[in-house]
This record gives sequence, structure tokens and C-alpha cells, in this order.
Amino acid sequence: MSREGLTPSPVGWDSDRDIEAWLGRAPLDGNHTADACVVGLGGSGLAAVAQLAGRGLSVVGIDAGRVASGAAGRNGGFLLGGSAAFLHDAIARWGACAVELYRETLDELARLETVLGPRVVRRVGSIRLAGLPGAPESVAEAADREREVADCAAHAAALRAHGLAVQDYDGPLGTGIYLPDDAAMNPVRRALRLAAAVPPGAALHERTSARRVEAGRVSTDSGVISAGVVVVAVDGCLEVLLPQLARRVRTARLQMLATQPVAAERLSCPVYGRWGYDYAQQAPDGRLFVGGGRDLFAEQEWTTDAAPSVQVQAYLDGLAVRMAGEPVRVSHRWAASVAYTPDGRPLCVQVDDGVVAIGGYNGTGNLVGPVAARAAVALALDGTRPPDYLAS
Ligand SMILES: Cc1cc2nc3c(=O)[nH]c(=O)nc-3n(C[C@H](O)[C@H](O)[C@H](O)COP(=O)(O)OP(=O)(O)OC[C@H]3O[C@@H](n4cnc5c(N)ncnc54)[C@H](O)[C@@H]3O)c2cc1C
Repeated sequence: MSREGLTPSPVGWDSDRDIEAWLGRAPLDGNHTADACVVGLGGSGLAAVAQLAGRGLSVVGIDAGRVASGAAGRNGGFLLGGSAAFLHDAIARWGACAVELYRETLDELARLETVLGPRVVRRVGSIRLAGLPGAPESVAEAADREREVADCAAHAAALRAHGLAVQDYDGPLGTGIYLPDDAAMNPVRRALRLAAAVPPGAALHERTSARRVEAGRVSTDSGVISAGVVVVAVDGCLEVLLPQLARRVRTARLQMLATQPVAAERLSCPVYGRWGYDYAQQAPDGRLFVGGGRDLFAEQEWTTDAAPSVQVQAYLDGLAVRMAGEPVRVSHRWAASVAYTPDGRPLCVQVDDGVVAIGGYNGTGNLVGPVAARAAVALALDGTRPPDYLAS
């Protein structure tokens, strides 16, 4: 890494034979009419497409870039039960509906596992560590770790109280809790597999940006898509496309890096530590995918810029060594945009007649996003009020 800036590199997940074989989808040209239009083809938009087409509607899905060119293809690949907030915190903030959301995400994970199989969804569980691997590097870190040990206990107690699986973890990485129901994936593989399997009646188009979204119409650079139902499934930068949501979501940047392979099975499952701000997954080929540090650079990370920064990447260099337990060689660095909401609940909101927007997953949207997509379709087609765990 140079001091001046970062040489852009591709996303680490894209170095994968299945992904390199993706043939792409043609851009949409001219005017089109469909029953429904979905803007954004990440994990959430693809779930909305499948839901709408499954209800017998003709659907046009568009993405400004490739399928999953946003956070859905650039994230840590953790498939975790629940929302961004740990269960005990979520219950304290929103009440019993937090448990309902937890169960919905586990159901969503089971559905994904059935559709995509074990090559994509690896049911290995996850570890929430108190602190980071290795001995604390300062008195402050040691004290923070002590507090987090207590918080892990409160977290585990909430899970047990609701019959959700959890075990204490005390192993080579440190202490914390193990959540056996969770899973890991290459997120791009997930999205491209789902895109390849959309039901008949749905047509997907890449490199097609929505410039304006109104009741009954989505304007692109080359025409208008007329559709009675529109689902906007854009997490990061949602408020850029729909400025009326500017007070309800705020975009932040999250950053990651990938390394050359490290010691096999150093991380047997996704690991997140230091209150969940830092995380790493080891792919079956031994590479580490490491992210975090946003809280340490909070002001500069409230941005719609999705390029990696020198400061956060320097932090991730050190974090990768702690996660690996050995020196690492970094191969890829990237970032992406996600949106946060004031009370931590994701958004599912009607913004115009027949137009529903979803997003604001607070950095944990791989399963919550598809749950929100189901709620969006139920709201748009049936007028069903979204559940209380979504802000509507
Ligand atoms: C570094 C990082 C690590 C993360 N780690 C995890 C994790 O491990 N587990 C987890 O659950 N969550 C994680 N998240 C959050 C998660 O990635 C997101 O919440 C989730 O991917 C959101 O998916 P989505 O489909 O709703 O939105 P996005 O992935 O943001 O997809 C939106 C799509 O819309 C397209 N788009 C945007 N504007 C337009 C437009 N005007 N017209 C057409 N298309 C448009 C974009 O190109 C994009 O493909 C992480 C996020 C990041 C950035």
C-alpha cells in the first residue's frame, strides 16, 4: 500500500472459477412494460424477483452494474441469524419482534441452503469472540475484552431463553460463543446462482441504471419501464436514488481485504470479534477474507464513496495478522456501501403508489435483506403491513 492512496484491485471473491464463468445479462434498451420492476440485483433484489415471478407476475430486474456489484457481492459472506444488533440488544430496543426476525433469518438460511446446496452455503456455524484473537495488546484492550466476555454471556442467555442454539467457546482463538446454526458463503456465488435460476417470467438486465423511480414507472438512460409494482432493493446509497428517504437511512462505507492462503483451518467458521466490528472468514482454499474497523474511523466512513481508504486498510492489515495468527500477504482490497437506520431496524416502506423500498440493514443484510424483500412483495401485492421488526 502506498502512503498516497490505494491501487484499485478487484474484489477477492471474484477470483473463483464459477464467477469468472458468468456470462452476464444484456443491458435493457428502450421502453418496456412488465407487471413488476425490481431495481437492484443484490441478494435482496434477487429474492424480490423470485417472489414476484413465483406469484405469476412478469418481472424486469435491473442493476446498474453486474448482479451483486454492490455490497451483496463484496461482503464478509457471513450468514448469521438475526439482525446487526446482538439478540439481547435487539430485544431491549424493539421488543419481542427481534426474536421473530431471528427466526425468519434462520428460515431464510434454510431456504438458501436447500436451493444452493453445500458448495455455496457452508453450514459451519460462527464464533463471536470477546475481543480479537491473541493476547490483548494494551491495558485498554484487556479491559474492553473483560466487558465483552460479560456481554457474550448476556447474548448467550438471550439465545437460550428463546430456544436458539448457542454454545460457549473457549479455544485457540480466545473465548466467546459459538452459534452452530450460522453459515458461510462466497457471496458472489450465492447471487450469481440465484440470478441464473430466476423463474420463467423474470428477465434480468445488467448495466442498466434507474435514474428516476415514480409510481408506475422507472426511468433508465434509454427508456421507461412501466410497471404497476416497483421494488427498490438498494441498500447502500438508497437515499441517493430516493431522496425522500434521506432522514431514514444514511450510507456508510465498509471495507475488506483478502489474503493469500494461510494455515489450513485456522478459522473453522466465520469469526467476528471486538463487539462484532471486526470479522474474518477463511475460504476452503485457505484464503482469509477480513473486514472491519469502521467504528474506529466513523466520521470518514459516513460516505457514499465506495473506494477503499489507506487508513482503514492499514488497520485491516494488522487485523488480518491477528486473525491469521501469522504474517499475511494481502491480495485484494475493496469496499462497498451499506445503509444504516436510526433505530437499527431495516426499512420496508411504501414511497409512492405501488413503489416499495427496502434497505438499511445496518451492515448485516445477507439474510435480513431477503426477509425484507418478502415483506415488500406482501405489502405491494396484498397490502400486508410489514412486521414490527421492519420500520415501515
Ligand atoms: C464489506 C462488507 C461486509 C459485510 N459483511 C456482511 C456479512 O458478512 N453478513 C451480512 O449479512 N451482511 C454483510 N454486509 C452487509 C450486506 O452486504 C448488505 O446488507 C447486503 O448485501 C445488502 O444487499 P442488497 O441486495 O439489499 O443491496 P446491495 O448489495 O447494495 O445491492 C444493490 C444493488 O443495486 C444496484 N443499484 C444501486 N443503485 C442502482 C440504480 N440507480 N439503478 C440500478 N441498480 C442500482 C447496485 O449496483 C447493487 O448491485 C457487509 C457489507 C459490506 C460492504
